[in-house]
Amino acid sequence: MKYDVAVLGAGMVGVCVAIHLLQQGRSVLLMDRNDAGEETSYGNAGLLQQEAVRPYEFPHEPSVLLPAAFNLRLDVRYHLTALPKLIQPLWSYFRHCSPRRYESIAQEYGHIINMTLACHQELISAAGAEQLIRKVGWISLYRTAKGRHKGLRTLDAYTRQGVNFKVLNGDELAEIEPAIKGHHAGGVHWQDPWIAGHPGQLVKAYTNLFKQLGGVFVQGDAGSLKRSHQQSWQLRDHQDTLLEVDEIVIALGPWSAEITARFGYRPPMFFKRGYHMHYQYPAGQPRLTRAVQDSEKGYMMTPMDAGLRICTGAELGLRDTPSTPVQIDRAEAIARKLIPLGERLDAEPWRGARPCIPDMKPIIGPLPGAPGLWCAFGHGHQGFTMGPATGKLLAAMMTGQTTDIDMSGFRAERFKKP
Ligand SMILES: Cc1cc2nc3c(=O)[nH]c(=O)nc-3n(C[C@H](O)[C@H](O)[C@H](O)COP(=O)(O)OP(=O)(O)OC[C@H]3O[C@@H](n4cnc5c(N)ncnc54)[C@H](O)[C@@H]3O)c2cc1C
Repeated sequence: MKYDVAVLGAGMVGVCVAIHLLQQGRSVLLMDRNDAGEETSYGNAGLLQQEAVRPYEFPHEPSVLLPAAFNLRLDVRYHLTALPKLIQPLWSYFRHCSPRRYESIAQEYGHIINMTLACHQELISAAGAEQLIRKVGWISLYRTAKGRHKGLRTLDAYTRQGVNFKVLNGDELAEIEPAIKGHHAGGVHWQDPWIAGHPGQLVKAYTNLFKQLGGVFVQGDAGSLKRSHQQSWQLRDHQDTLLEVDEIVIALGPWSAEITARFGYRPPMFFKRGYHMHYQYPAGQPRLTRAVQDSEKGYMMTPMDAGLRICTGAELGLRDTPSTPVQIDRAEAIARKLIPLGERLDAEPWRGARPCIPDMKPIIGPLPGAPGLWCAFGHGHQGFTMGPATGKLLAAMMTGQTTDIDMSGFRAERFKKP
């Protein structure tokens, strides 16, 4: 069996790349070792973040860094044993967050983010997936006047990048989210983002669209990838069927560098692990209608179809070492005092890894020195949001068309050793 392109990885990014390539007239094989949308694109907070034009910054304030160094913060923790492998990418991340470098990165990042909702909407409409989306925005909640003041100070930069939001005082917050107990200093309602009530189902809906458009999904291991003698590529599915392909897109999220390393490309990917847990909605009590970030504490609550999902911030560690879900336990204890929260619904906290690149930008474009191989990975905190825009941009690059935005800052060469 012969295809023009195989996309490896059926998370949000891979599925969207595969659809856009089909729409450009390519025959496309999509391969994953599992079903589509079962990994990072399943476990996230479900936000389609039209507001996230400014990527997640490395903190510089001593008031944040000092407690973080002693693992005393809820929003970020690290594994001491992982430090030898983390120091280099974290140092590079820190350096990319100098004010001048960060500002220029935020402009590039914003260009992709600004494309995202329109790109999602096209797929949502084509897939008939409107019922999976709530167009309600999300809220950064501030408990104290000091926290609110600090949060509001960042808003000018968002305004300059065209983001819509409404600043809420404590009464307004209580009015729009009656589930929140107590009186708080207020918040910011990011009005444009959407919530997916079941992130994995949205990826599966897009995958069904891919199949309806004529794409072929198979289960198989990307590790089976080999150059064939005819200058094309070979893969094997789980039935050991041999598949011949002209071009390959690596969209394996946190696993991408395992495959690129075989072709001499080792991007400095590191992982911000994250956990989630679902909770029952207590009967007869108000529910959150939007996702709410308890900003001064550092966790996110999203009302999902299956229950309220609490997602944790970053756990800096190696991708595969065993779970240490202390952030979930601590977030749960805090959230129980903030909103009505029922029993845990999952046997164990889910764990995933945000695939992060030190300059905060995904890697999109040809893999240097390996003709026919393409990259679409490293989307860090916003891959669920950026999948469809990445698909559109990469499909344009692969078919020799002009891209909607300048892609030079996203290309893989930026990490290629001379
Ligand atoms: C706690 C948490 C909360 C988050 N919240 C948000 C949010 O609200 N909004 C947002 O935009 N982003 C969010 N993110 C980030 C987002 O989830 C990721 O950036 C995004 O899901 C990455 O998508 P992906 O397709 O690159 O990777 P994945 O979804 O992980 O897909 C990679 C695929 O590759 C497959 N694969 C791996 N190895 C192989 C192999 N050898 N052979 C075949 N297949 C293989 C896997 O099975 C998987 O399906 C969050 C992340 C976390 C952890």
